[in-house]
Amino acid sequence: MANERTLSIIKPDAVAKNVIGGIFSMIEAADLKVVATRMIHLTEDQAKAFYAVHRERPFYNDLVSFMTAGPVVVSVLEGQDAIAKYRKVMGATNPAQADNGTIRKAFAENIERNAVHGSDAPETAAMEVAFFFPESEIRSR
Ligand code: ADP
Ligand code: MG
Repeated sequence: MANERTLSIIKPDAVAKNVIGGIFSMIEAADLKVVATRMIHLTEDQAKAFYAVHRERPFYNDLVSFMTAGPVVVSVLEGQDAIAKYRKVMGATNPAQADNGTIRKAFAENIERNAVHGSDAPETAAMEVAFFFPESEIRSR
């Protein structure tokens, strides 16, 4: 298992519910470290660019509206097997299918308003981390 970095976004629905701490607790309980974090309000251009891979999907415009509706918390997580591990802690995209004990089971409302984002592979993790954080803002420890 490699020591990896992955990008987490606590989405506007979860920030509005005031569960940032609850989500960080679940991240830390899984032995992942927050090595960079910042609260931001995504612009439409940022949200469109971040989710460009989904631009042909029917939910793309709604997703961009949702992701720009309020502040988000972007973080870099680090740890052994961090990419797959965080996906497991997040749970299934549709919270109706998410396992007990996952972030989405605990906090997500529906398949769109699903509390968190996490990178899905080493290549996307590297791109997504760099999208929000210069190396100088990441504190590996
Ligand atoms: P994940 O976030 O689990 O990696 P995807 O990459 O497939 O899921 O989708 C990106 C985001 O787009 C989801 O987290 C969710 O907010 C939204 N989304 C995905 N599928 C749908 C859908 N069928 N209807 C509405 N929104 C969706
Ligand atoms: Mg995805």
